[in-house]
Amino acid sequence: MLTDLPNHWVGPINQLVKDLGYNGSVLVADEGDPVSEHGKLVFKNTRHVVDNVIQHMALTAKIYVAVVIDADRSFQACAVRLGKDEFCIVMWMAATIRTSAAMSRLLATPAAAEFFSLSLQVSAVSDVAQGENTFAAYDAISLLPRIDLGDVGNSFRRYLEFMATEWLVMHEIGHIVNGHLAVGSTANGLTYILEQDPAADRDYNITSQALEVDADCFANMFCLQYSLGRPLDVEKDEASQDEILVARLKPYLFSMLSVLRSFDHAPLKVETLFDSDHPPGCIRMSYLLAQMLTMQSETTIDFKGANLVEVGGLTAVTLERAISQATGINSQGGNFLPAVSIPDEVFRKPVLSRWARIYPELNAIKLTPFKLAPPQYPPA
Ligand SMILES: [Zn+2]
Repeated sequence: MLTDLPNHWVGPINQLVKDLGYNGSVLVADEGDPVSEHGKLVFKNTRHVVDNVIQHMALTAKIYVAVVIDADRSFQACAVRLGKDEFCIVMWMAATIRTSAAMSRLLATPAAAEFFSLSLQVSAVSDVAQGENTFAAYDAISLLPRIDLGDVGNSFRRYLEFMATEWLVMHEIGHIVNGHLAVGSTANGLTYILEQDPAADRDYNITSQALEVDADCFANMFCLQYSLGRPLDVEKDEASQDEILVARLKPYLFSMLSVLRSFDHAPLKVETLFDSDHPPGCIRMSYLLAQMLTMQSETTIDFKGANLVEVGGLTAVTLERAISQATGINSQGGNFLPAVSIPDEVFRKPVLSRWARIYPELNAIKLTPFKLAPPQYPPA
């Protein structure tokens, strides 16, 4: 199966994709080719994640899944409101293909081998990425062919990819169940929230960034719990509870941070922070690591004796080293450290004040049975 979207919605979603400037369409017919095979896998994994949440939250709304094939290999995902209690999550197939290619190359590096204690049989890497810095080069490796990592390595890579997909899907579900479509954009009669939507209006961008942070936190909270509850193939019987927890945490963090890292295309500039409707990937990375510390101190999640600052910092540094080693480019590094040191006044205050302002509107239409994150600042 490639989609469960009712036939009469396929046309309007295709029109929306086109209106948004994408060269793609919803996969419907199984052609028996590799594209259809991959499309079925994306649909199955996405459906699995959505069904899990529907059951977990006892939701009655219908959430369909559509997979888009895009000739330009754009990386995109979208939450759409179709009608009353009817929604659709649209996943671009390129998102999973490119994540897979990049992940194989990151895992083939000495930095990843050391971090995950892996010894993989990796054949010589022929193609090398091109780019003026690690941002361009990291983008470029996702378009290269995937590297074969051998049985153990490929299986581990598939696990990391599943978690990356799970995180992306949970982020979209966050937009739907937390009521974000109350303030979404509208085109062709459909309300939607798009990832990487270029917008020029600073005020609109602050609202949008508040929603993105909330969807990120929603995904992080659920995906962390799922990841920590899933035994790994390689777990040792003699490992302590703390060691097991850290061993399950590291692949999740690596996959989640590697997705967010791919959203940055240039060094962080504080002056242009609100020129986009999404916060820079590095700020999202640092926000989610900070959210984990909050969840630990509030015991929302039992992290056992894990030192989250150490594990989170080490994962971010390993990811950056792996990107340099995989791309052969060791220029300016990433944005994670500059993002961690951004003052609250510059990002948190404007974005969370906006969260406080839209909070009543979101609360009125949210689907989740759980409470939304309470406002921490006066509305503005
Ligand atoms: Zn989003």
